[in-house]
Amino acid sequence: MLVPEPERHLQRDLTEPILAQKAADFFSTLPAEGQRRMLSVASPHALQWTMGPNPWIGLSADEFKSALRWVTGSPQRPVDYRCPFCRKPADKMGVHAVSCPISGAAAREHYVVRDLHAHLWREAGCTTEKERSPAAFPGLRPADILVHNLFPSPPAAIDFTLWTRLQDNVDELDQVVRYKRRQYTAPCESEGWLFKPWGADAHGGLHPGARSLTTMLVKQLAATGKYGGPTEVSNLVWRAISTAVIHRAAAQLARHVPPVPECDDVNADVEPEEEA
Ligand SMILES: [Zn+2]
Repeated sequence: MLVPEPERHLQRDLTEPILAQKAADFFSTLPAEGQRRMLSVASPHALQWTMGPNPWIGLSADEFKSALRWVTGSPQRPVDYRCPFCRKPADKMGVHAVSCPISGAAAREHYVVRDLHAHLWREAGCTTEKERSPAAFPGLRPADILVHNLFPSPPAAIDFTLWTRLQDNVDELDQVVRYKRRQYTAPCESEGWLFKPWGADAHGGLHPGARSLTTMLVKQLAATGKYGGPTEVSNLVWRAISTAVIHRAAAQLARHVPPVPECDDVNADVEPEEEA
């Protein structure tokens, strides 16, 4: 039998403060790094990559498993180890793996996010150019992608930041975004472009500016009628972007996890059968 509406509200009103207090109590017991991870993972759309596939980008089985351990704060390995790539001490939780300067695809993996965005904006009816500089500032590169035909806006110069310095405080991504805004807004305006910084951190949390830009992308793509209605398009785009963001950490972590034994090894300790 359905519970009447006023009683359902009463139940919610009574339980929500208790749940919020329990969450706050749990949060206060975590070390600083755990708190940063929780804040990132709990931010909107950060875990959308766990919600199913999308047509554009995926994770391998090993990357998916490594990423799940990463966002839940579970160890990647049984014990700390020496990094096989840079030979420095590395922690079992994967913090070193994600930021290792030698195995790190720090620069390269940024392109996964950039190229996915370029593709999605083109699907939404825009044209895009990569790595553009304003004519008066040839030494600056504020546009990882430059998006044209963004009705009713002028061209948008989108700069992507994937933040991985886990030792720093949670506001650090915001500081990077604000620094880029100061550096690039005026040069972009001199060219008639809007500067749009887009930032995400290693656990999948998106900067508010990135979320609003992605919301614009969803609306524009939904208006084309490709990929279904607004709800379907929203689900697909957020899943794809969330996957691209976590892909960088996932790929790094999977590289650092020792290979899983072959299936045959499972039976290695079984006594051989007696010969007839
Ligand atoms: Zn290393």
